[in-house]
Amino acid sequence: MTGAGLAIRKNDTVVVIAGREKGKRGKVLFVLPAKERVLVERVNMVKRHQRPTQKLRQGGIIEREAPLHVSNLMLVCGKCDKPTRIGKQVLANGRRMRVCKRCGEIVDKS
Ligand SMILES: [Zn+2]
Repeated sequence: MTGAGLAIRKNDTVVVIAGREKGKRGKVLFVLPAKERVLVERVNMVKRHQRPTQKLRQGGIIEREAPLHVSNLMLVCGKCDKPTRIGKQVLANGRRMRVCKRCGEIVDKS
């Protein structure tokens, strides 16, 4: 992976294509580019034991998302609502946009 970053970005909707969470969909909360991992809302939940702290007196078991490797994820296009591969398109002003390879629509919202 070069400095260009990952094809998946924060706030994208993704679907899991491999592993025990296969078929689940969620919104990307966080991207860890160095590890090529992504945190997806309500996907790949793991239980952690939380010790009581001053903030959280109760402690006990909490559930939180664990990051997934990007190779297990596919972007869901907002236009055609299907998992898709990403293409690149360079606009006249030099901006590089991500495009859906299914419908050709620009995926980036901004
Ligand atoms: Zn599409």
